[in-house]
Amino acid sequence: MRVYFKCPNCHYENRLKTESCTRIEFAMENGKNRKTDCKNCNQKSTLNVNKFYAKEFKLISILAGILFLAGTLIGLYFVMQMISEMKTVIGIFVVACGLLFPVWIYSILNKEERNRVKAFNQTYVTE
Ligand SMILES: [Zn+2]
Repeated sequence: MRVYFKCPNCHYENRLKTESCTRIEFAMENGKNRKTDCKNCNQKSTLNVNKFYAKEFKLISILAGILFLAGTLIGLYFVMQMISEMKTVIGIFVVACGLLFPVWIYSILNKEERNRVKAFNQTYVTE
């Protein structure tokens, strides 16, 4: 996942990639203090791992949103067809499930991302 830190010199929000899911793991990977390079002012500094934080990855929300919209449109199209062609209870049930499916995916993606961010931000390493 991506973790962020603010440069102590210019307060620019830098980003770095890590395999760690929690701060504890992050500390084990890097030590309690991690050397950082600011992309904005090139200042080198050593930051305590507690200064690093996770944020929700926006792209997942956008992707989930697109999926949700596409699913809804496709679902609506089938509903229209269903109404004009055959009005079966099962058919309507299938379409209803089809409409719920993107909602379900959307909520799972969002929840997982939120949990990941929470897992990282809620654990602190004792100094
Ligand atoms: Zn800086």
